[in-house]
Amino acid sequence: MKITGIRTFLMHAGQPFSSKWALEALSRDDAPKLLPGTRNWLFLKLDTDEGITGIGECSGWPRVIETAIHDLAPLLIGEDPANIERLWQKIHIAMMSHGILGTVGAGAMTGIDMALWDIKGKTLGVPVWMLLGGKVRDRIPIYTHANSPERALSAKERGIKAIKCGGVADPVRKVAALREAVGNDIDIAIDLHGPPWLTPADACRLVRALEPYELFWVEDPIAPDNTDGYRRIRDAAHVPLAAGERSATIFGERELIEEELVDVIQPDTGRAGGITQMKKIAAMAEAHHIQVAPHSGSLGPVAEYAALHVLAAIPNALILERIDDDWDGRRQTIVPHPEQVDGLVAVPDAPGLGCDIDETFVARFPSGGNVSIPVPEDAGSYNPGTYNEHLYVQTRLSRRAYFNR
Ligand SMILES: [Mg+2]
Repeated sequence: MKITGIRTFLMHAGQPFSSKWALEALSRDDAPKLLPGTRNWLFLKLDTDEGITGIGECSGWPRVIETAIHDLAPLLIGEDPANIERLWQKIHIAMMSHGILGTVGAGAMTGIDMALWDIKGKTLGVPVWMLLGGKVRDRIPIYTHANSPERALSAKERGIKAIKCGGVADPVRKVAALREAVGNDIDIAIDLHGPPWLTPADACRLVRALEPYELFWVEDPIAPDNTDGYRRIRDAAHVPLAAGERSATIFGERELIEEELVDVIQPDTGRAGGITQMKKIAAMAEAHHIQVAPHSGSLGPVAEYAALHVLAAIPNALILERIDDDWDGRRQTIVPHPEQVDGLVAVPDAPGLGCDIDETFVARFPSGGNVSIPVPEDAGSYNPGTYNEHLYVQTRLSRRAYFNR
């Protein structure tokens, strides 16, 4: 079997103007006429001379990665798709001259790698989890996002057993309100999104203030570049820590795992380097008793399938992030749409990944942009009206908010 071509499918995930992250950008004079939000999904298909097509998804900056995919295509055309590891290494070497492999380069490799596993599963007539060593479990627990008691209760009513709130605006009060609303039988995590003005010293105090709420984890308590800061927080507070969504491959996640700076590693299934890397990252984490909870906050549904296969096959699977009520089009993008029942999603059984995209539907939502600044209403990352302020002001404002001063 030989690879004959690569096709890409870039879409805006959501109705035009649906993203609050884009609202601020829309008000700028230089904003394009149609800036349909910031979340893009990039799917790709690898075609072969035997009529089998593999599907994959790339995150990490989809509009840029689409160009990278087409640059990489000549390296893949004519190759046997069965040799996944060899092709991964070939692409890795080809990217050396562009610097250390970040999430953009790894995002390109991810979609290709995912499609190669899909082809192998379809060729052999088995689901991808079978190729990864078989199933450890039949269903994968999921958590969803809830920043308000109302949303938390809605999730609880739908049978979901864990929720995550986000943003660094008044996190202690937010967590307290959620805990009061849902009681103790729902796990609550918080994502602080690691903003650059949250210093390790402040983060230590903040995470300690969150200790009484018995959180599932505190995610990205500081900017993930600062692993020494993670060490300080680890020593200061007894709260499970999570990170890893902004890094890629075993090389990018290595320090968090080997130094045991987190309890939960969160590789993004769309940009961590593919199923090949997800399996290796999970094995590294297993050796340190670290659990795996793949990031998928901005991911599309094909990468979610890949995560389900990986989580089915690894012993240290904790839970999968899943936002299935964000946009109705998510269901129409993928066939079939995996349903959650009682907070669990069944592991797919069809050969390969077991899914396809609706290409006609995807084409109805062209990408118009993929960069934005979070605004307070959406991410809770800034105090209202302050995102143009410099770091000193943000730090002062944040301290006041966290510690009521
Ligand atoms: Mg996060």
